[in-house]
Formats: sequence, C-alpha cells, structure tokens
Amino acid sequence: MIKAVRGTRDLLPPETALWNFVESAVRDVFRAYNFQEIRTPIFEETQLFSRGVGADTDIVTKEMYTFYDDRVAVDGPLLSAIGPSRELRASKWITLRPENTAGVVRAYIEHNLESRGLNKLYYIGPQFRRERPQKGRYRQFYQIGAEVIGPASAGSERPLRDAEVLEMLDTLLRRLGISDFILYINSIGDSKDRAAYNEALRRALEPVVENMCTDCQRRAVTNPLRVFDCKVPQDQPIIQTLPLISDYLGAESKEHFENVQALLKKAEVSFEVNPRLVRGLDYYTRTAFEFTHGALGAQNAILGGGRYDGLAELLGSREPAPGIGFAIGEDRLVMALEGRASETMQRADAYIAPVGEGMNRNALVLARDLRREGLVIELGDRSLRLKKMFEAATKAGAKYIVIVGENEVKADAFAVKDLATGEQVSVPRAELPGKIREWKIG
Ligand code: AMP
Repeated sequence: MIKAVRGTRDLLPPETALWNFVESAVRDVFRAYNFQEIRTPIFEETQLFSRGVGADTDIVTKEMYTFYDDRVAVDGPLLSAIGPSRELRASKWITLRPENTAGVVRAYIEHNLESRGLNKLYYIGPQFRRERPQKGRYRQFYQIGAEVIGPASAGSERPLRDAEVLEMLDTLLRRLGISDFILYINSIGDSKDRAAYNEALRRALEPVVENMCTDCQRRAVTNPLRVFDCKVPQDQPIIQTLPLISDYLGAESKEHFENVQALLKKAEVSFEVNPRLVRGLDYYTRTAFEFTHGALGAQNAILGGGRYDGLAELLGSREPAPGIGFAIGEDRLVMALEGRASETMQRADAYIAPVGEGMNRNALVLARDLRREGLVIELGDRSLRLKKMFEAATKAGAKYIVIVGENEVKADAFAVKDLATGEQVSVPRAELPGKIREWKIG
C-alpha cells in the first residue's frame, strides 16, 4: 500500500472544517487592518532563500528540499519520451519554499507593488522543511503570515508598525478563543549593533566552543548569532553564559524597542521581554517576537516574526524597503483549537430520497432548487432501498429526509421526516426551503 510521505499528512473532515473556520477568521481580522492576499509560487530559485533566510541557518543548511531543474540530467526512458529535439532549458537550482517572507518580498520588488500601494500583504499556504517529524512538527506544514513593507517615507520602519502588527495578532488569537498564550519580544539590533554583538559572541565562544556540537563550532566562525538556534542539551549551559544582545544595542535600536513596548502597553497587549530570543532566520533586525501556547507541549511556538529592514536590498531592491511580518504555524493553531472540529463542520440540512420510477429527475430538480436557496442537500438515488437512504441520511448528518415519490410530485407537496423524532409532515414545495430553514434554527 502507498502511504503519505513521512512528515506529510492528509487533513480530513471534520478537521478541515476547523482549518476553514481558522482561515475565515484570519481573513476577517486581516481585512480590518487593510491587508490584501498574495499567493506566491510553491517553489523559487534556491538563492532566494540562501540569500534571504541566510546561508548559515538550520533551514538553509539542513532543511530545504532542493533539486536541480535541468533537462540534460533527465536520463534514459524519460529523455526519449521528451524527445531529443526538445530545447534544453537553462539549469536552475530550485527549492520548495521553507517560508514565505522571502517570496513575498521578491514579488514586492519584482512587481513594484509599492507603486500600486500594495504594501500590506498576507498569505496562507504550505511550506516545506526537512525536519524530524513529531507532533506539531511536519515536513509539509502550513503558515499564515502577513508583511508590512514599504519605503521609509511611508513610516514602515516606525515602532507604531511593530505595535500594530502585534496588536493584530493578540486580537486574532482572542477572536479564535485562544487566551492561554504568551508574547515574547526582544530587540536584536540593526546591522551595526549585530556586527558588534557578533564580535563579542565570537570572543566569548573562542575558549568554550570546542566543547560544543559541530554545528556550533561552524556557527562560531561563520555566524555566531546562530549558536542560539542550537537544540543540543549539552550546549545549553554554555549558551546561557554568552553575552546578551541587549548590552550591544545602539541608541536608535534601544529607542525603537522602548517605543514598541510603550505602545504595546497603551494598546493593552501583554508581553514579556526575552533577551535570548533571536529567531532562526538571518533577515531579522530590531524587533523579534514569538507567541507560545500553553497547551501545545514541546512544539509550543505558535507563531514567530519580526522586523527585516535590510531584506529588500539583500534581494535586489534599489530602494530600501523596511518591513515587519510574522508567520503563524497553522497546524499548531488548529491543534490549539482541537475539540472544536465537529462544532465547526457544517453537515447536510436535508437528504432527498427519490422513491419510484422516474423520481430521480424530480429529486434532482428539487435538490437544485433547495441548494439555490442556500440549503445543504444530500441527494439519494431511487435504486437504493428506503432503509439504505435513511442510513445514508444519518451518516451525512442530515436532520430531515424529504421523500420524492409519485404522490408527492402530483400534489406538489413533499413528505418530510424529522430523523431525530421520527415525526412526518407534508410540506408544499413553495414552503419547503423556508420550513427547513426555520426548523434548522429551531
Ligand atoms: P519560522 O518560519 O521558523 O519563524 O516559524 C514560524 C512558525 O511556523 C512557528 O512558530 C511554528 O508555529 C510554525 N512552524 C515552523 N516550522 C514548522 C514545522 N516543521 N511544522 C509545523 N509548524 C512549523
């Protein structure tokens, strides 16, 4: 038997109803803040991520699904199927997107979205990372994210944007009925602060790094900040002794961070400062944040994000375009809402049971009319025995079964049976949609 690939999974009803519930709440909330949806490709050129996310990050060094898209490399049978006359295309390294911010910023630059006033964008979609699968951690997972990008003249680098984005997330989680969360924030400084801090880290690591894992030994040389991504338990006591970024923030970064905190307090968004929060992606500057959720266990980070003031230039923008954004782990968000799946799944309002020769035709038309009235209808088939149709109606979650037989069609009134009580009444065709809706509301 062929099964889903390790780290991927099928999302099935009734859980898909919960995913839809989450996504529609998200769209409602984002709309109130005037974000517009963007959909970028699932795969991009590899260098978008190695440049954007950072060559020394775990994502780029270990977790990306990358392939060489080169017709020349296609071997034997496939090559002959394509045919030798086919033009050979340029070779390219391609990667399944491990995150969506780099793609959004690429699209922002490529289509000059600024000129169209499109600088607040959100996305919902799958991302891919070759991580060790466990509960809450998958190789195909889903992120819901939003980005505010724009020229400095539009105020996109101001602390108000940070506070607004964090306030939106606080509002969104509460709207979904989640309250058991903590927002951690930190400032990881601008590029000048980071250079000084990286130097300090390098010095602090020198005498101790030989006792650390091989990844950390590499990071200590190439990009010491990434040492904080280490999950090896033996390395943690050493990491605890390393200098903190807060001691290396310049006046501007400090002021920015203080302003963000003051604004959050005004907006009644609770937070905790976590001086060791650095996030696993290189593009962040200044504000970095993470929300954790109590009920999620080991994988308790429900979303993360931050500011990325230099990313656009890194990806080829001539104009600076500071930005701030986040990505919510949708799988984990849905996990936090587990138990509400059946409540959010809409079942059939009624089941139409055609009984007797020629009745399928009448039933099809009646089903069409009721569906056009906004009702959810499951349609049987006259080849089934009535008992079978009753069972099917129950399985479909229908509350009523509408019998379509010769007498009903002649009278233009249908027998409607309440599947819970067994009560049966005759309802004229014209009154049927209204009656079903009325009963449904109870
Ligand atoms: P990141 O893009 O690493 O900042 O992650 C943002 C959020 O995406 C995290 O807080 C998680 O909720 C979620 N996430 C990241 N990686 C995975 C994964 N492998 N499986 C499920 N969710 C993930």
